[in-house]
Amino acid sequence: MGESYSGGSAQEAIKAAKTIEAAFRSNAPLARKLVEKIRGLAIEAERRLGDASRFKIMDFCGTHEWTITHFGIRSLMPEQIELVAGPGCPVCVTPSLFIEEAIRLALDGIHVYTYGDVYRLMSIRSVRGASSLSEARALGGRVKVVHSLLDAALDARSHGRDSVFVGIGFETVAPGYAHAVIRGLLPSNLKLMSLVKLTPPAMFHSIEILREKPTEPPIVGVIAPGHVSTITGAKAWVPVAENYGIPVVVSGFEPLDVLASIAEILKQLSRGEARVAIEYARAVTWHGDLRAQSIVGRAFETVDDAWRGIGFLPKSGLRLRSAFSKYDAFETYGVREVTPENWSYDLPPGCRCAEVVIGKAKPTDCPLFMKRCTPSKPYGPCMVSLEGACAIWARFGSGGLADEIARELGISPSAQPGSTSGVGDFMGEQAPRGG
Ligand code: SF4
Repeated sequence: MGESYSGGSAQEAIKAAKTIEAAFRSNAPLARKLVEKIRGLAIEAERRLGDASRFKIMDFCGTHEWTITHFGIRSLMPEQIELVAGPGCPVCVTPSLFIEEAIRLALDGIHVYTYGDVYRLMSIRSVRGASSLSEARALGGRVKVVHSLLDAALDARSHGRDSVFVGIGFETVAPGYAHAVIRGLLPSNLKLMSLVKLTPPAMFHSIEILREKPTEPPIVGVIAPGHVSTITGAKAWVPVAENYGIPVVVSGFEPLDVLASIAEILKQLSRGEARVAIEYARAVTWHGDLRAQSIVGRAFETVDDAWRGIGFLPKSGLRLRSAFSKYDAFETYGVREVTPENWSYDLPPGCRCAEVVIGKAKPTDCPLFMKRCTPSKPYGPCMVSLEGACAIWARFGSGGLADEIARELGISPSAQPGSTSGVGDFMGEQAPRGG
């Protein structure tokens, strides 16, 4: 890792990172070296931290969790390091009340468009017998799965009937929504229900919660989301380094990217440093996409928003500005906003999704994992989306590819807690090994 910032010449750092990144990618001997380096640096970091116990490195993004789980990276880690998933799954953290509102709209005859995973997301309360948009559709509601807001716009234009797009996501989807609204690309019969969430507040929250629990291994490093950072820039994560003294690496999504990012975090820890570094320099810059940031700022205002099972986080959501109220589903259809007064804990009994998304619990800590809650029949929201940690662990949790990679690298898969070894592969309804 050559690129790290706490100011200084961003251009020089980016150039260095690109050179080093190119050498890091796609070769097995390098992967082996990185794993060896990680094991050595973990011992040095442990000495520096002065704590013989384990420590946590959080991967924020669902796609990083997928890479880590799918390629068995946990099983390659030394025993000091626990890789934990963060809140990087927008479906997992969308409050139940908004799903209930979308169900209500669909059953009232409004055409509701959304993404495939939101279609399956359950609400905590049923609305006229439906607890998800898929159930609303079964009861005659008008619900259609689309890939994007523009797909919804095309379809809504074709039929001309009252329609709503349920727009969940993080910073990555916001520029597309903003562009469509500012450019007037939406037909007059289609309204946007913006449920966009902003990721830095959730990261700060996760770190603080674990700090308040002395019994929990602390988060000592963060693998920051690559896609989000293409928009926000790596600078968005400076508060993590400066306020909490935690190294942050904006990482790409290849296994070697993740290994290189872990090595950089440990290098900083072993030196007593905490900076923001960019490993994913082929896509991410320090300042991000300024044009995208500008149109998002024009279309949306930042609001305190509720996160499912967690509650309100300050300045963590985006709603359309009043200048664009004619496109706003909240305004047009009286969609209820979640407020501190009407928000209540919105996970089903026994579901530990709120702890899973802040890195406090692993999916396998949940007694319902792969019993009452499976990818084909999710009980909690973290099992619905392919970005949800429970769904990822259920589908790709070790065995198979993970062990194969460990063997190729000449490394004994770790049996540490936090490795997914023992969870087993999941295909359809097949029960996990040891799950
Ligand atoms: S396994 Fe299911 S019930 Fe358990 S935490 Fe995950 S989503 Fe919730």
